[in-house]
Amino acid sequence: MSRKEQFNRLFPNTPAFRWKQIEQAFFVSSISGWDGVTSLSKEMREKLKDLPWMSVSANTVMVSKKKDTHKALLNLADGQIVESVLMENVRGEWTICVSSQVGCAMRCGFCATGKMGLKRSLTSDEIIDQYRFWQTYLDGRTIEGTDAKRISNVVFMGMGEPLANYEGVKETLNVWLAHTDLGKTRITVSTVGVLPRLEQILTDKAWPHVRLAISLHSAVAETRKQIVPTSYDDFLPKLADWARRYLAALGNRRHHLTFEYVMLKGVNDTIEQAQALAAFVRSIGDVRCNLIPYNLTDCEFERSEDNQISRFLAVLGQAGVTAMKRKTMGDDIAAACGQLIVLTAAADKTV
Ligand code: SAH
Repeated sequence: MSRKEQFNRLFPNTPAFRWKQIEQAFFVSSISGWDGVTSLSKEMREKLKDLPWMSVSANTVMVSKKKDTHKALLNLADGQIVESVLMENVRGEWTICVSSQVGCAMRCGFCATGKMGLKRSLTSDEIIDQYRFWQTYLDGRTIEGTDAKRISNVVFMGMGEPLANYEGVKETLNVWLAHTDLGKTRITVSTVGVLPRLEQILTDKAWPHVRLAISLHSAVAETRKQIVPTSYDDFLPKLADWARRYLAALGNRRHHLTFEYVMLKGVNDTIEQAQALAAFVRSIGDVRCNLIPYNLTDCEFERSEDNQISRFLAVLGQAGVTAMKRKTMGDDIAAACGQLIVLTAAADKTV
């Protein structure tokens, strides 16, 4: 049961603004427990002590050599562990990379999390609190080489498939948008492309239109199916049809779509694949491509050569497609994309 449901059970006839006050207090860094929520009566605060103030706690935090990437293993109430990452970004502020599930059911061939299978979805409290965890972490220490304390961006690129936890993610987005200074363009939900849920986003009035990134990985059906096993024969035309409707309904200067593309040597990084991607993107419209150098995991794929990535980028550029190569961060602590798998034994405890 979520904190909000537990609260409503404890105080059945309380007006809704009370819970909003509590939620607001969750994001005030000087308040560290129920006693600090002074807008509530003392009696109420006493009763609330049965509810967890925080639903995640640090098991271990690892810090990269450059101190620009921090990976936390977070304990959950039922003994599961999930990973969450803090990265310094180009603004000189912080981006957090949150998990939406423990493990993942999608089993993409190049992703370490997929190897764990799905344990369970996170509750919205557990996703919401990853932001609170990192904010408290930043407030409480000095990190070498930076004075930055602000979390300016959030990406759902940790463990799990966010759209397979649609309600939990939606609730989280609405809470963060209401109580933090994050705007909709500062949050990105990255998805393998669960089409029924993408359709739902188009009509769901309560879904806040944050940025979406689709993990495409190939615009050739056969290749996509080989590396993303949940893909199916007519996935690409269906995605293109959805994307055109999404952009028609929401596209503007602030709203484009992003396709993510993990560069796998000899698999999806050829010139033909680049041409297929360019043609696919051009059939849709305002889509940016984000090429991700493959981060090593325990599987048969290899990272594309840098000059092959440059050639691939050049083909996209010539076709008028906006594309960039993503910077790899935190690979020395296995915190980079697709490296999130809970292996506590290997953790080098620093905090
Ligand atoms: N389930 C979501 C989030 C996955 S993680 C999704 O599919 O989008 C975020 C991105 O990292 C995805 O594009 C994912 O495909 C990519 N990724 C996974 N494993 C990777 C690896 N080993 N190297 C580089 N990127 C990887």
